[in-house]
Parts: sequence; C-alpha cells; structure tokens
Amino acid sequence: MKGLVIKNTGSWYTVRTDDGRDVESKVKGNFRLKEIRSTNPVSVGDRVDIDINNEGTAFITKIEDRKNYIIRRASNLSKQSHIIAANLDQAMLIVTVNYPITTTVFIDRFLATAEAYSVPVKLVFNKIDRYKGEDKEYLDALINLYTTIGYPCSTLCAKTEEGLDALKAELKDKITLLSGHSGVGKSTIINKLVPGVNLRTGDISEYHNKGMHTTTFSEMIPLPEGGYLIDTPGIKGFGTIEMETAEISHYFPEIFKFSEDCRFNNCSHRHEPGCAVLQALEDHYISESRYKSYLSILEDKEESKYREEY
Ligand code: GDP
Ligand code: ZN
Repeated sequence: MKGLVIKNTGSWYTVRTDDGRDVESKVKGNFRLKEIRSTNPVSVGDRVDIDINNEGTAFITKIEDRKNYIIRRASNLSKQSHIIAANLDQAMLIVTVNYPITTTVFIDRFLATAEAYSVPVKLVFNKIDRYKGEDKEYLDALINLYTTIGYPCSTLCAKTEEGLDALKAELKDKITLLSGHSGVGKSTIINKLVPGVNLRTGDISEYHNKGMHTTTFSEMIPLPEGGYLIDTPGIKGFGTIEMETAEISHYFPEIFKFSEDCRFNNCSHRHEPGCAVLQALEDHYISESRYKSYLSILEDKEESKYREEY
C-alpha cells in the first residue's frame, strides 16, 4: 500500500494512504541518507510503501526518492541533522513591510536558502490594508524588485480576506511550507485557509526556546481544497544549510548571472579588480539591498570559519 507521511512524532509516523485512510506506522529497515547524518529516517512529505503484519502493526518498508528536503541541525552540539520535510512543491514567505518590519536581509536569506534546497518560493505581502504613503511606496518597490529577479509576489489582507482566494488557488494540491516572522499573520492566514484547524501557535515559540520536541515533531495540515501546509513548531525560516563561500552567489540568481564575467574564477565580489558584480551594482542592475544580503551571508560564513579555527 502506498501513501504520504503527514505526521512524525518521533517514533510513529502517520501515513495517509492513497485510498484515504490514516495509518499509524513504524519504520522497518534503514533508510538513512548517505549524504547527511539524520536523526529521522522518514519525514513528512515522504511517499512511502507500508505493509501491515499479522498483529496489525503497520511498517514503512520503502521510501520513494525525494525531489528535495529541508533540514535543521538536531542540536547545537551535534553534527546530526533532522529532516523537517521532504518533497516540497513550494515555500511561501509571508512578509509585512511594517507592523512588524520584515527586513530584506531576512527575505534574501530565506530566498537563498530556498535556492540551495531547490524549493521554489513565492512572496506573500500581508496586511496591505495598513500601508499608506511611504510604507505603500516601499511595498511597491519590494514587489517590483523581487518580481524582476523572478520571485512571484502577491498581496494579501488576511483581515478582510482580500487576496485569499488567489492564495488558495496557489496552494491547491501542493505541499507548501508557510513561513514568516512572528506577527506577520501566519496563524490568521492558516485559520482562514483551514477553518477549525487546531493550531499550536502561541505556545510554539516558547516550546522551541526550551528546545523541547522540536527535533522530532512535524506535521502537515491537509487543505480542504487539496494539498498540504507544513506546520513545524519554531520554524520561521528554513533551518540551516551549509553553503560553501564560493557557492553563496549561486543562490542569488541575478548576482550569479554577472559573476560569470568576473576576471577571477574565485571572485568574492567585494574588492577584486575586474569584478562584473561590482560593476553591475554600480550600474544599478543589482540592487543595493540584495548585495548587502549577499555580503551578510558571506560575512557570517567567514565568522563561523574563524570560530572553528580558534
Ligand atoms: P503570526 O505570529 O504570524 O501567527 O501572526 P498572527 O496571525 O497572530 O497575527 C498577528 C496580528 O496581526 C494579529 O493581531 C492579527 O489580527 C493581525 N493581522 C493579521 N493579518 C492582518 C491583516 O491582513 N491586516 C491587519 N491589519 N492585521 C492583520
Ligand atoms: Zn566578482
């Protein structure tokens, strides 16, 4: 029998079978990935085969190849990772330009991580009822910036439900990771998308801060129109991904495009002569804010290298 893993409590997995039943299953066999040391062999979003034995216990016996997966480190001390979710069709980042401010560095880090994970991203600008004057101009500028780079943008007012039907259409039949800073309206949106859903929001960040359960629990929320939302306690962004310094620019598509013309192969696009990225920045083909975000990831990376050395 084939199905989709929709919940992972650590030791048990809920598998929604293709004929629509939810079966509590255990794992049989070793499915751990070769490329990472993961604490969980199976994750929500996995397509699996299950067998039910004579005693009525269900076992996952096979996992289909994943098209992508997202991970986070199981703890600060261990090198082990936890697979948060697999086979994401898309990620949606809920952004508010004010009340609260979502910084472009936050947006760009999310986008770069999504690129690294091969997950397509859409930006959803919420609370548009609140923006007038400068806020509205800034909102339009951001939408223009990200649309030009190639990230689809849409606007939403979760409060009045303006834009909600369009959002539903984009979520239909897809597995979507919904993310955003706290306060951007994520729970309001989920509650409107899935009336009656039992969200564990509010308690979540506290839960997360205490480091409880977060390494084992994940769940997908079935959408009434088909498709799933991934709801992972404490996950605002994407968790972590190891990026090589030289790789970082690959995850900024419009920066990467120019980097092929840099004089040096290993150009970091900061001070090297003949850097095509710096030239493009000067000519306004690359936005200041995007370049700043690129630098911020680069600098983090160098700082952590420094820490490892000393
Ligand atoms: P979360 O932390 O991302 O889950 O955010 P919440 O859903 O708890 O929303 C935070 C606050 O923003 C609440 O007071 C919501 O009522 C409010 N809110 C959410 N969406 C909108 C919106 O579109 N417009 C306005 N004005 N307020 C909103
Ligand atoms: Zn360069």
